[in-house]
Amino acid sequence: MEPTNPSTDPTDALSAVPAAGAHRGAAPTGRLRFFFGPMDCGKSTLALQIDHNQARQGRAGLLLVRHDRSGAPAISSRMGLARDALEVHEDLDVRDLVRHRWAAGARVDYLVVDEAQFLSPAQVDQLAELADDARLDVYCFGLATDFRSTLFPGSRRLFELADELNAIQVEVLCWCGHPGRFNARVHDGDVLRAGDTVLVADTAPTTDEVRYQVLCRQHYRTGDLGPAAAQGRQLSLT
Ligand SMILES: [Zn+2]
Repeated sequence: MEPTNPSTDPTDALSAVPAAGAHRGAAPTGRLRFFFGPMDCGKSTLALQIDHNQARQGRAGLLLVRHDRSGAPAISSRMGLARDALEVHEDLDVRDLVRHRWAAGARVDYLVVDEAQFLSPAQVDQLAELADDARLDVYCFGLATDFRSTLFPGSRRLFELADELNAIQVEVLCWCGHPGRFNARVHDGDVLRAGDTVLVADTAPTTDEVRYQVLCRQHYRTGDLGPAAAQGRQLSLT
């Protein structure tokens, strides 16, 4: 490569003169953001806080959710806050949802999507298109990995496409005190590593036998649930 060719000079990125076609001033597109963390790290609480902050600025938004823990479509946090939301069904085109709002005369400036790990990759692509072409700000919240410690398909697509990736800073601790990053599915004292991934949405017991516990990598790997589990009960704040 000729270092003197200005069009290929990598230091152009630092130039005060914008490249041809670049927009000056206001951001020309919306942004797609993904906030991720383990169970119980406060994702839904943050989702509701961001919606509140946006609404206070006079912006209009839609709240979306897949498989919310409450049963009815809502974004609900374990701290007791809740707001009604629209369920994103498996075959829903999110662009159509927004277009119908526009057709009804409503403004849509932003989207807040909870449990975004359950979105299909195609739906994440639709969110990116809404950010680019309709200039919506899209805030997605969800788990990165399932109980097998592999990325959810929706989360994987968000990692690929999002403008911003934010690890939620409220640390959930393993019983040993190290940061918990893994959402273990536990049955009868054992960490399960195969099965349907959908159940991972909630830490509350889904049956009498199955529950979830956040573990550090070492204890997820070894399946060590700690002294509370050895006593047959889980530590609880409630
Ligand atoms: Zn640990």
